[in-house]
Amino acid sequence: MMTTRACLTAHLLTYANENLLRFARKDSKFAYEGRPVGSGLLGFWACRPQPRWSCDHKITSASGSKQIRSPPRIGGRHSPSVGTTSICVDLGAFPNYGSGGGVRGGLEAPQGPPPLSWVCYCKCYTFSVFLRPAISFPIRHQSHAQSHLKQILGEELNSIQAAGTWKNERIITSMQGVTITAEGSQGELLNFCANNYLGLSSHPEIIEASQKALKEFGAGLSSVRFICGTQSLHKELESMVAQFHGRSDAILYPSCFDANAGLFEALVTPDDAIISDELNHASIIDGIRLCKGKKLRYKHRDMVDLDLKLQEVKDARLKFIVTDGVFSMDGNVAPLPDICKLAEKYEALTIVDEAHATGFFGRTGRGTEEFFNMLGKVDIINSTLGKALGGASGGYTTGPSEVVQLLRQRGRPYLFSNALPPPVVAAGIKALDILMSSSKLLEAVMANTRQFRDGMSKAGFTIGGENHPICPVMLGDAKLANTFTDKMLKKGIYVIGFSYPVVPKGKARIRVQLSAAHSPKDIDKAITAFVDIGKQLSVI
Ligand code: PLP
Repeated sequence: MMTTRACLTAHLLTYANENLLRFARKDSKFAYEGRPVGSGLLGFWACRPQPRWSCDHKITSASGSKQIRSPPRIGGRHSPSVGTTSICVDLGAFPNYGSGGGVRGGLEAPQGPPPLSWVCYCKCYTFSVFLRPAISFPIRHQSHAQSHLKQILGEELNSIQAAGTWKNERIITSMQGVTITAEGSQGELLNFCANNYLGLSSHPEIIEASQKALKEFGAGLSSVRFICGTQSLHKELESMVAQFHGRSDAILYPSCFDANAGLFEALVTPDDAIISDELNHASIIDGIRLCKGKKLRYKHRDMVDLDLKLQEVKDARLKFIVTDGVFSMDGNVAPLPDICKLAEKYEALTIVDEAHATGFFGRTGRGTEEFFNMLGKVDIINSTLGKALGGASGGYTTGPSEVVQLLRQRGRPYLFSNALPPPVVAAGIKALDILMSSSKLLEAVMANTRQFRDGMSKAGFTIGGENHPICPVMLGDAKLANTFTDKMLKKGIYVIGFSYPVVPKGKARIRVQLSAAHSPKDIDKAITAFVDIGKQLSVI
């Protein structure tokens, strides 16, 4: 199949030049110097061995209006052109050839070695044309070192594929929301796999606030925060975050990954110790790797083991316990009351990552602390703006002002990475505004969670975790999870299966995530699909 692909690629690339013909969805627009230079319908017929193709639409190029060919359907070896410039077919647009998938159905070629003739089809897809200045790269000499690298990486990539853990991106062609459109799928899909807990990712008020900030404060800062990258907006959001969590101060980062990457290195010295739940998020694991303190891991949510580990480091100058508030693969919650008791016993400090709790977990969305009715107990909170709070991006640390001040001096992702762009900051401010002024969304996501968990449990499914919008539908077998998700997709329900090594062997599952924006009807539809397929596959 690879040779087949490469061969077709070569044929298509003979048309490469400075014009790019790109297949796209009807509503897509491509612009060059601020304006689209063409769009319309394209028919693709046989490629034998070069693609013959035709077009029934005028392409407007920078130099005027040109017609490719009309009526559609031409034979022979046709070299499509716009005026004197030829056209490059963007292979990324073909699902079967190249990296992406812009054309549903796409080109089809037989398996096996390259045939002498191609029979390809692809009817009437919308396209846009835009001009790009061409840069021709000299043919690069491939060094021995690079060949060696490619060989090593090739083997590694093959082993990922062989292990069945290769990750593909599904290309969404709409805004993020509970209904989306995606390349390779017919019509709208009901989306149950975003961290869009409050449904704010494309909320009109968030979009409006972002647009306003874009106009008023620009696209970005071209600077890190402490040089010339701090605007009044950043200070406003930092103070809102601190207020929301009831802490003295807060510091923003480009992401929560960065908040975790920056915290431990700045805070934990060789005289100190850090003890981490073994299933903490990758960014906590990486952040801890960067610090010079003594590092220990305790068994997942195991308080006996945590006690033992605390005894081991009882003489350390400072002791930190770090945990996810909610664990994203299982939707289960850290035993915070017990952790805080042990922290008191050993005079340790607590750090909680609230990425899957902030904004929607606990009575007013204050997270795990609030869920356990112990607001203000945790010493330091890290969280994200990239999930419930608008879904754009950004992360933060909030806690005692001395911690935040130190992070402004020593937090490397803060000191050495660009400031958050104003539209993103404004989205965060608006999300907190919405959240702090009404509990409507929060109540909706929790009601939806109950509806889904109750309906699925009644139908005979095992749903992992606690009363959290992350609802893992436990299936056990990895292949079964994949077959199940494929069948769900065919019914218009977009869910994702997780298997080893992301979750333990034999614990494959479909992770369903509820949003405030789902309607009861959406949830019923998902449950019905689960039940149908579950019966088909003898899961229930
Ligand atoms: N912490 C946890 C527990 C997460 O689940 C994630 C994201 O998946 C992060 C941190 C990273 O958040 P961000 O996307 O803001 O970097």
